[in-house]
Amino acid sequence: MTQAAGADRLRHLGVRSEEMIEALARISADEGQITRLYLSPEHRRAATLVADWMGDAGLTVREDALGTVCGVLPASEPDAGNKTLLVGSHIDTVINAGAYDGTFGVVAGILAAQEIKARGIKLPFTLEILAFGDEEGVRFPSTLLSSSGVAGTVTPADLEVTDASGVRLADALTAFGGQPEAALHLGRDRDSVLGYLEVHIEQGPVLEAEGLGVGVVTSIAGANRYSVTVSGMAGHAGTVPMHLRSDALVGAAELICAIHRIAGQASDHGVVATVGELSVSPGAVNVIPQDVVFSLDLRAATDEPRHEAARAIEKAGAEIASRHGLTINFNQYHEVVTCLCADRFQDAAETALRTLGVRPLRLMSGAGHDGQAMAKLTDIGMLFVRCEGGISHNPLENVDRDDMGLAVEALIRWIETIAEEERAVS
Ligand SMILES: [Zn+2]
Repeated sequence: MTQAAGADRLRHLGVRSEEMIEALARISADEGQITRLYLSPEHRRAATLVADWMGDAGLTVREDALGTVCGVLPASEPDAGNKTLLVGSHIDTVINAGAYDGTFGVVAGILAAQEIKARGIKLPFTLEILAFGDEEGVRFPSTLLSSSGVAGTVTPADLEVTDASGVRLADALTAFGGQPEAALHLGRDRDSVLGYLEVHIEQGPVLEAEGLGVGVVTSIAGANRYSVTVSGMAGHAGTVPMHLRSDALVGAAELICAIHRIAGQASDHGVVATVGELSVSPGAVNVIPQDVVFSLDLRAATDEPRHEAARAIEKAGAEIASRHGLTINFNQYHEVVTCLCADRFQDAAETALRTLGVRPLRLMSGAGHDGQAMAKLTDIGMLFVRCEGGISHNPLENVDRDDMGLAVEALIRWIETIAEEERAVS
């Protein structure tokens, strides 16, 4: 293919992506915003549109018991095995969302399958595109329910949760046309699945800073969340001399600065730490703070640096507490271990990017994704796409059309590379 023809092809894929993204963005519960919650009328309309696109792309379409739209392109080589390569993302959104989070991964999967078929690219495995309905966990207090269904890890309790209006998930699912009972038995046969790939917008600023349209994800960060309580002694703001105070807020302030410094020193390992909530009591202008409670969210590309940062933060807390006559208590209420992307899929993605003349930067995902649920079933791989300013979960979310075209072509070549490797081993 000539360079001009290649550029035309990328442009075409970018234009198609943009049209499809815009069509999905018009399906919303709120006029002028994008809100598509799981099992809502908007989810139904989006699922129907996605199913139509999959049908137009020549895929065999069905919807699983949890409402995931599945489009299958059968293996095209005569002696192909019975393996399936899954490619997916989600079509639900947060409230007042951007247009690209999740939806672009679904669009990219459909366009890639369509192109593979149209170009007559032979695959020694079945390709299946998945459009998950519940990734964001906004309507129900659920976590990655749709992909957990495919991974076979959904429990009856997962379907008993209720939304803000008291509607049970199981009832909403039935009304949607799904099947709660069957949802417990959706898990794919491990031996039949080759892996799970996902294209997703980065939702961060790294690719933009590096001047790259796409990049290879190394892992989905593990995370610890803590509620940190700093306790001192309340007192009169006018009568207690400075050297006799145990001011909880002063200790908290020092600790927050220490947290920022400790994470910054470990940034090579992708350590990031955030204090996003803080409350002071009694909380009066003329009272020395007695108690401060703040949140701590700690993430890293791999588990050990995250644990190391946690230990350093607790040590800093102990030192600050003794210096100010405070007690500091770290209550960890949540931990998710790091989910590694398979080396073979990272390497294959790197090969694919090189054929497109793109420097294959590897970066971690600080945000959670369906891959975390899918990793319980199979190897996963992810490709990130640059988004403007790293802004996401926001109506300002924006992805360049050319980057979308590049990402779809990269996905096609990624799948081709995996196909070549499969042929080599079989
Ligand atoms: Zn997403």
